[in-house]
This record gives sequence, structure tokens and C-alpha cells, in this order.
Amino acid sequence: MHEFSLAASIIQYVSDVAKKNGMTEIKEMHIEVGEMTHVDPRQLRFCIRLASQNTIADGSRIYIRTRMPVLRCLKCGTSSELKKGKNLSDYSMACPSCGSQEVELERGKELVLKRIKGVKKEALG
Ligand SMILES: [Zn+2]
Repeated sequence: MHEFSLAASIIQYVSDVAKKNGMTEIKEMHIEVGEMTHVDPRQLRFCIRLASQNTIADGSRIYIRTRMPVLRCLKCGTSSELKKGKNLSDYSMACPSCGSQEVELERGKELVLKRIKGVKKEALG
């Protein structure tokens, strides 16, 4: 399952970050998913929950936002958000400013961990 391997690497990553920052517990995870990753946010959340069991992120709140893809025109350089049609696959892959179809995906295929919130170890003494 695609989502499960993603979830496993997210947990791996947040655990590393948390340890480096002296956190003992992760309370919140904020994740942004590009529309073009074809990741189902609900499935991803479920998988993260599974993957976080018995880790530092166990019981953490998971926030997932989807981001619309951004196209960049190779002709005029305009960046624009991809417009979605009636169907999910019905994207208009043309520059809205000059109409060129020589465009590349600037954003939308990535999964970004925006931030995590955790509890730091109390300084003793
Ligand atoms: Zn253009």
C-alpha cells in the first residue's frame, strides 16, 4: 500500500526530528499533500496512526491538508494553480496567461511535513 510506506517514512522522520529537539512526545503533526500524489488523506491518516503505535508519535493529532497543483509555463513563466474540472483527472494543462501547453508541474507531487508540535523533557534540577 502506497499510503502505508509513506506513513512509515513520515513517522521515521518525525521521530528523528523530535529526538534531535529533545522531545519526548509528539502532540501534533501537520502534513500537506499535493493533489497529484493521489494520496487519500483519510487513508494516509489511518496509516500514520497505525505506524505511530509504540513510537514517540503515538496518540498524536494528525492534520492533513491537500494542496492544489501549481503549473509553471515554460514559455512565459507564469505560475498558476491547476483548475480542476468535473472529474478528478480532468485538469486543464495549459497556461491561463498565454495558452501554451508547454507547462511543467511546479508543485503538487510532494508530501510536506509542515510542522510538528511536541512535549520537551522537563529540565530537572
Ligand atoms: Zn504562458
